[in-house]
Amino acid sequence: MCQNTRMKTSQRRTALLASLLAVFACTPDAAPPSQPDASSAEDRIDLIIMGDYIVSMDSAGSIVENGAVAVDDGIILAIGSADEITAAYTAAEVLPGEHRVVMPGLVNGHSHAAMTLLRGVADDLALMDWLNNYIFPAEVEFVDAEFVRIGTELACWEMIRGGTTTFVDMYYYPDTVADVVDRCGMRALISTTVIDQRSPDAENASDSIQKGNGYIERWKSRNSRITPIFGPHANYTLNADQLKAVRAAAIEHGVGISIHMSESPFELQYSKDTYGMTSVEFYDSIGFFDGPTIAAHMVWPTDVEIPILVERQVGVIHNPTSNMKIASGIAPVAEMLQAGVRVGLGTDGAASNNDLDMWEEMRLASFLQKVDRMDPTVLSAPTVLNMATLGGAVAIGLGDSIGSIEVGKRADIIQVAFDDVHHVPTYDVVSHLVYVTDEQDVASVVVDGKVLMKEREMLTIDTDRVRKEANALAARIQKALNERNLKAGD
Ligand SMILES: [Zn+2]
Repeated sequence: MCQNTRMKTSQRRTALLASLLAVFACTPDAAPPSQPDASSAEDRIDLIIMGDYIVSMDSAGSIVENGAVAVDDGIILAIGSADEITAAYTAAEVLPGEHRVVMPGLVNGHSHAAMTLLRGVADDLALMDWLNNYIFPAEVEFVDAEFVRIGTELACWEMIRGGTTTFVDMYYYPDTVADVVDRCGMRALISTTVIDQRSPDAENASDSIQKGNGYIERWKSRNSRITPIFGPHANYTLNADQLKAVRAAAIEHGVGISIHMSESPFELQYSKDTYGMTSVEFYDSIGFFDGPTIAAHMVWPTDVEIPILVERQVGVIHNPTSNMKIASGIAPVAEMLQAGVRVGLGTDGAASNNDLDMWEEMRLASFLQKVDRMDPTVLSAPTVLNMATLGGAVAIGLGDSIGSIEVGKRADIIQVAFDDVHHVPTYDVVSHLVYVTDEQDVASVVVDGKVLMKEREMLTIDTDRVRKEANALAARIQKALNERNLKAGD
């Protein structure tokens, strides 16, 4: 029978599964709770999130109409009809569900968050020209811990507002990134960038590995929402020995790696010329896949390499907007998924996108594959939504704890407003989420059971301050760029 739990927090944990089973066992005419409603705050759970639909993204694709999710201590306690959940639980806070769709938060598998401050600084260029002549020099000149703090806050604001709850970052001053993520309440895998050139926070590869070791130690077990990882940049900015050294350090610390891999025709040619093989084969040959790997882009894997990605359980992150804007190519996503590769979605940095909108990535991922293959059946709406949620979580190694609304998982959940004109009428909620919804539709965002945005109001970021600081910093960058242009014209 459906039964309201009457226990203290310490007892509640052990009864999570039992209570869920009880809720699922309820039938519409099941007996009402056997005890009167709880009145003491001690007995209340933290949060109930309601919606016209609960799109769980579990492996069965379960969708609950007029549903609700019960959350306590950051964990999903139960999922059921709104009537069942509200009968079984009293919550300190309730997010009402009228014209709201509840789904897992989006997982942005590849980004350079602080690059929001370089958005629009250099556009319409090829990858190597963009990197070597604009981005790398601008970063060495302007990027310091303060830049990273402000840029990452901007990015977290944009991502929370758009329904992203977890992101994988690769940038400099990772301690600062982690501090920002800690404060704003998001979940993130934060890479310490390793690159064999002078960068904003290191002199060369060995210096960046050494500094990375300290960062990993500091954050390894500090905050369950923050996973420190190594971020070797690519095989054209690090040699084989340096890449092996990064993997050895990651293994020693028991952490994973995120990297750019097989991104552009340049990299393909560089790898063939330097190592006599294409990128994935090269990485496999040096034992680079001996630990968890998140490989961003993967635009040019060969038929020989795709099975390697499956066998070595590499998490691939597809970045359709960035790949289109820099003309890196069209990743064979349909082939990789069919072969069993773990593929998630990412935005890349805001300087090559130029926003952090995962809804746009979903749509472009789908449309780009369809027109490339001349087959409208590939990358269907459910497939793409999975890539942005559970599939993405699996690709970055968090599939057991986030990515779907299932009992026992961490409560990373968003509410999407479905009352604007483009959602009227709604025949198929998943179709609407992928092909219609945009970031402006996200109403509320919950990470680890904590509400970070409530009906569009940001609760953990002082947006006025961040806007002011970002504009002041951008003015300094603009002035320096103007001066440089004047000198260049002399
Ligand atoms: Zn990138």
